[in-house]
Amino acid sequence: MPAYDDDNIFAKILRGEIPSFKVYEDDDTFCFMDIMPRTDGHCLVIPKTPCRNILDATPAQLAACMATVSKVANAAKAAFGADGITLQQFSEAAGGQEVFHLHFHIHPRHEGVPMRAPGTMGDMDTIKDHAAQIAAAIS
Ligand code: AMP
Repeated sequence: MPAYDDDNIFAKILRGEIPSFKVYEDDDTFCFMDIMPRTDGHCLVIPKTPCRNILDATPAQLAACMATVSKVANAAKAAFGADGITLQQFSEAAGGQEVFHLHFHIHPRHEGVPMRAPGTMGDMDTIKDHAAQIAAAIS
């Protein structure tokens, strides 16, 4: 497996070199909105320390991410009146991964509403508003 690359876009977000719509952070994890949202409220949870994906993450990194996933998923479900949550994680290119810093996608889901196709940029004002809605619902 290739080494972790410090120049990946999520590492730059963590360093504050490029902007993001923050939802939540604690000592070990950061949650922000996906800018090509496949669902309303689509957000990403990442560890603050480097690892490519599920294949090299430590148990501590995974545990920290899962605690944040649980917190944000419940908040997103409440904020959007969702019926459920889809959690996605892709590891390595063959697994569908495009950004090589471990991340978990959280999607609020409504009964009978399909996810949108990937790759379409969202409206930034709407995404900012959705970040605020989820953040406000975090207890
Ligand atoms: P994947 O590695 O396949 O799980 O996908 C990477 C995800 O990162 C995609 O859903 C992209 O829309 C998202 N993404 C890429 N660049 C940014 C960015 N600057 N801010 C937020 N999300 C991003």
